[in-house]
Amino acid sequence: MRKVSIFGATGSIGQNTIDLIRRAPDAYDVVALTGGANIARLAGDAVALRADVAVTAYDDRLPDLRAALEGTGVEAAAGQAALVEAAARPADWIMSAIVGAAGLAPGLEALKHGTTLALANKESLVCAGRLLLETAAAHGARLLPVDSEHSAVFQGLAGEDIDAVERIVITASGGAFRDWPLEDLPTASLAQASSHPNWDMGQRITIDSASMFNKAMEVIETREYFGVQPEQIEVLVHPESLVHALVGFTDGALMAHLGAPDMRHAIGYALHWPERRELPVERLDLARIGQLNFRAPDPARYPALRLAYDVMARGGMMGAAFNAAKEQALDDFISGRIRFTDMAAVTETALERMSAERDLIDAAMTLDNVTRVDHLARQQAARAAEERIG
Ligand code: NDP
Ligand code: MG
Repeated sequence: MRKVSIFGATGSIGQNTIDLIRRAPDAYDVVALTGGANIARLAGDAVALRADVAVTAYDDRLPDLRAALEGTGVEAAAGQAALVEAAARPADWIMSAIVGAAGLAPGLEALKHGTTLALANKESLVCAGRLLLETAAAHGARLLPVDSEHSAVFQGLAGEDIDAVERIVITASGGAFRDWPLEDLPTASLAQASSHPNWDMGQRITIDSASMFNKAMEVIETREYFGVQPEQIEVLVHPESLVHALVGFTDGALMAHLGAPDMRHAIGYALHWPERRELPVERLDLARIGQLNFRAPDPARYPALRLAYDVMARGGMMGAAFNAAKEQALDDFISGRIRFTDMAAVTETALERMSAERDLIDAAMTLDNVTRVDHLARQQAARAAEERIG
């Protein structure tokens, strides 16, 4: 039996991972499941999967979790230190599907123990890609991409030489406001931004898809994971979300990866890698689909994309600043303090100010320094939001 843990088990990726594991109960020995506020789901799944331990990220939820697990034989734990401790428990495969920078510390800990880490938490690569890759290399651990585009690129590169790669094209649906008149974007509501045309995902990544902050993060993720240059990475709007990425080679060949918009494909690929196993995902009927559309993203509609290239050009720990500023701006949009279009403006102002913090941005990339950059960038973004509200 393979020992597996799922971080962010109560979320969209976590639940899809559990769905795959439930289909082969004899194949997996579940070590840890983690969640946040959704104690009922965390406890229910931990009991159903006979996990050793269930961890909530929030200290004050420990009494609820303890009560829900009483007499079940599943251990209850809470807080940041407990999350990191759970990542240190021996496992063959860990799903990293916490949302946000909070996923970094447990992911790093898992890699230090040589565990294979399936990485849905793109924020950790954006914040500290080099640190993750170096930690994995130092401990003989493997990082497998779960983000659909990066799984697609990874599959397109199988058996290929990375030096023969000319470009990597990742696709974007264009999100909820793809066809809205530009002048209406400032009035976009939270509910409107929280609905995705093709994918069923957590609320934060869904809003990030509407603003294309998600794709901006994925551009940086592509650079970090595959080690290609920023100018080799392209984004294409592809409304059908069936081609997830394309890899272009020096001989002009372009290898496309197609699949239904179902995260169980990328999760299952990472779960079974290096094998391919049957997965419960829809098979595409291209004759019925008939046509696929592609177009260049409009820079006026998606300013976040330009910010990604600015961040990569600046280097150092600017990725951590970018992610933190964007997370803060997203919090402020969700709470109704700023408008949809303010998120890019706030993030840009925060980045300009963070760029002046040269010593910090260019310091050694350690978890402590990444955390310092993260905190300062959140403060700068909160200040920039304050200034916009006036
Ligand atoms: P969800 O919001 O659905 O789930 C997030 C998970 O993280 C939940 O288990 C949540 O717990 C937990 N969580 C929230 N805040 C914290 C915190 N501060 N500390 C620890 N745990 C926390 O997100 P998704 O599943 O959509 O996304 C997860 C990750 O995967 C993100 O990084 C996202 O960008 C990435 N991803 C997601 C895709 C998708 O299809 N959903 C596609 C590609 C990448 P609770 O709900 O109990 O509070
Ligand atoms: Mg993606």
